[in-house]
Amino acid sequence: MKQKILIASKNPHKQLEIQSKLYFLDCEVVSLLDVDDGFEVAETGSTFEENAILKATLYARHYQMSCIADDSGLCVKALHGEPGVYSARYSSDGTDESNLRKLLKEIKHHSDRRAEFKSVICFSTKEGSYRCFFGSIEGMIEDHPIYQHGFGYDPIFYVPSIQKMLSQCTIEEKNQISHRAIALQNLMEEIGGFMNETSRSQ
Ligand code: IMP
Repeated sequence: MKQKILIASKNPHKQLEIQSKLYFLDCEVVSLLDVDDGFEVAETGSTFEENAILKATLYARHYQMSCIADDSGLCVKALHGEPGVYSARYSSDGTDESNLRKLLKEIKHHSDRRAEFKSVICFSTKEGSYRCFFGSIEGMIEDHPIYQHGFGYDPIFYVPSIQKMLSQCTIEEKNQISHRAIALQNLMEEIGGFMNETSRSQ
């Protein structure tokens, strides 16, 4: 029987990005949306790493399967790293659009537009052993959003290395360069073989 791996995210964009990066794992990838029984993990950590560990270990224990959790966000240089771990909850209503509008307002008078998306991916076994993997991508905040693909702050994040906004990338393109893709790549290199072997021996 194949090992089950739970992706601990209710964000359908994140879910899809993670799932399409794990396609060659010999495991059954399970979405949190499929098993959801109302169990919630509060993101009480003060770093991406703390929150990723909290989510991966607690969901793994609760649902009794290996789990991959991502905690990620946008760190803006001129705003001293904000919104950072509060990226999803930056504005009072916490929608992607109002978070993005708040950020544009805060950065309006700053000429330094450097920013970085950061992701920490934590893999936890159901017994609670875990490893963390890191990824980041540098870019610049643009004043005029372009809405095409993606989610969150993608419409205002310009990536100099590809000369377009992250929102102008298809999921395949984003999965070559994004913070989450790099963290997942690191995970696959370190423990992809181990996960396939564990799966076959079960
Ligand atoms: P989390 O679900 O607590 O990790 O919050 C992640 C938040 O960071 C999202 O709700 C977005 O606001 C932002 N974010 C993280 N990754 C991305 C991305 O790939 N594109 C755009 N926004 C992102």
